[in-house]
Amino acid sequence: MFSEQAHQQTHSSTDETTRRGSVTGTIAPTRPLSAADRCDRCGAAAYVRVVLDSGELLFCAHHARKYEDKLRAVAVDIQDETGRLASTPSSAADDER
Ligand SMILES: [Zn+2]
Repeated sequence: MFSEQAHQQTHSSTDETTRRGSVTGTIAPTRPLSAADRCDRCGAAAYVRVVLDSGELLFCAHHARKYEDKLRAVAVDIQDETGRLASTPSSAADDER
């Protein structure tokens, strides 16, 4: 049975532990992707940069989405510029058929 303590404050006031050591806040500033940046998988223009401990990977929007789950698991940072795609008119969206 639960006791009738409606709002039991588990407020561990240990500010000291949370304040010290800002975890490696010096990642090199990411520059915007350019036309020279190509998807590592298919060579299309890259729209997503995945920063890893060991380096970085570039992906087009298609492959970024395809590997998204895996990438998020290992990435230090993900620079997603697929928003630039959305600004182009999507008249070519149904050219798959
Ligand atoms: Zn690709």
